Amino acid sequence: MKKDITIIGAGLVGSLLSIYLSKRGYKVKVFERRGDMRKEKMSAGRSINLALSDRGIKALEEVGIMNEIRKICIPMHGRFIHNADGSTAFQAYGKQGQFINSVSRGELNKQLMSLAEHHGAEILFNHKCETIDWKTNTINFELPGSQLVTHSSQLIFGADGAYSAARLQHHLQHDRFQYWQYYIDFGYKELNIPPGENGSFRMEKNALHIWPRGNYMLIALPNIDGSFTCTLFFPFEGEPSFASLDTKEKVKTFFEKTFADAEPLMPTLEEDFFANPTSSLVTVRCYPWIREDKFALIGDAAHAIVPFFGQGMNCGFEDCSVLNGLMDKYDNDWETILSEYQQLRKPDGDAIAELALNNFIEMRDKVADPKFLLQKKIEARLHEKYPEKWIPAYTQVTFSPHIRYSEALQRGKKQEAIMHELMQMPNIAQVWDTHEIEHWVLESLKRVN
Ligand SMILES: Cc1cc2nc3c(=O)[nH]c(=O)nc-3n(C[C@H](O)[C@H](O)[C@H](O)COP(=O)(O)OP(=O)(O)OC[C@H]3O[C@@H](n4cnc5c(N)ncnc54)[C@H](O)[C@@H]3O)c2cc1C
Repeated sequence: MKKDITIIGAGLVGSLLSIYLSKRGYKVKVFERRGDMRKEKMSAGRSINLALSDRGIKALEEVGIMNEIRKICIPMHGRFIHNADGSTAFQAYGKQGQFINSVSRGELNKQLMSLAEHHGAEILFNHKCETIDWKTNTINFELPGSQLVTHSSQLIFGADGAYSAARLQHHLQHDRFQYWQYYIDFGYKELNIPPGENGSFRMEKNALHIWPRGNYMLIALPNIDGSFTCTLFFPFEGEPSFASLDTKEKVKTFFEKTFADAEPLMPTLEEDFFANPTSSLVTVRCYPWIREDKFALIGDAAHAIVPFFGQGMNCGFEDCSVLNGLMDKYDNDWETILSEYQQLRKPDGDAIAELALNNFIEMRDKVADPKFLLQKKIEARLHEKYPEKWIPAYTQVTFSPHIRYSEALQRGKKQEAIMHELMQMPNIAQVWDTHEIEHWVLESLKRVN
């Protein structure tokens, strides 16, 4: 007999997981705190668009939805850098034909929900998980008007995001539960560049725009209506910071000076700045993720990460894909499936958390540094000549779903050490493309591997 399965949270990962499980014939119920976003207006300021890349695409292809999603994707082939001196530069993400995709979070979530229902999953909205009794696997939900209902299930997945109530219940009633959370000193705020005439794009459409400014940055991703969603990653305190920009005049003056080519494209800047929330950025690591064959955390609930590698959702989708592979392997043996899921995914969740934190410095600062650009050029050439031996860290994470995040982190560290040494060499800008340097890199690789 197949278990009945309950998922807490109908966000991106919970909805996708319910499709995988329903397709396998499980009876799936999904409980979501919010109302049905297909009928209600979504609140602003919660990352309107996301970068979808190969790991996420692989999972969406597995459940047969990628062709539909592709229609609402905008390919971004590289970073479009807006320097402080007014110059601009384009840096390709990978080889010709490799790109990431800007996709609407809301549209993606809605399509996943509809597909979940199409395959037989039941989604119950306005059900907020409050407590879980692990002896009976019974969940207590609060409905609007403070009404309480209970629901028992043989297997529960906590897919309720970074501030997971399911994880807290697991935490509170578990001996030796490990928990670590880390807030960076930066928050984010969403802003907007509206479309031009007839829905035209007012900047390069097929790129992720970055205004790197050392300690902070502004980014912009395209939307299919011709607009761009901008996100300002900025310190909470100090000068300049969210705290110091406390009047409309200060905001306008700061943007005119700091993001001179973006400001004229943002007619509602001052209003948006004070109307949209300033949100914090947290990394969460915890262990264990599972309870025997009865419970597992998945997606952000298991591993919330900062967004600087554009991998949070992709990683959560990969969790689902890995679980699916384990269901192929172990059929209905959930004790083994969950145990192996945790063993495989915990190191990968930790690795992408570290990679994402490191990438903040790269995005906000290094992308504007000529030495860094030279390093990227050298790495791209090495990858072109030796595609298996040298794979740039970004390519491993973004375009190589067969490489685990934990492996990408380790290989990336070794390559970075070699590059660090190489970049110290005298005249490297002149000699990087010589046979001697290539030989040195290949020998160095042998040494570290
Ligand atoms: C600014 C920003 C930019 C990002 N950009 C990217 C990107 O470019 N690429 C990428 O891959 N990732 C990105 N991410 C990360 C991505 O948003 C998350 O990793 C992803 O949303 C995780 O999905 P999830 O389903 O695990 O959690 P969520 O999307 O948070 O969904 C959780 C769901 O659970 C529900 N819920 C919460 N509590 C309860 C409760 N008590 N009871 C019932 N339901 C509950 C919520 O309402 C929600 O629907 C970004 C994140 C941020 C903040």
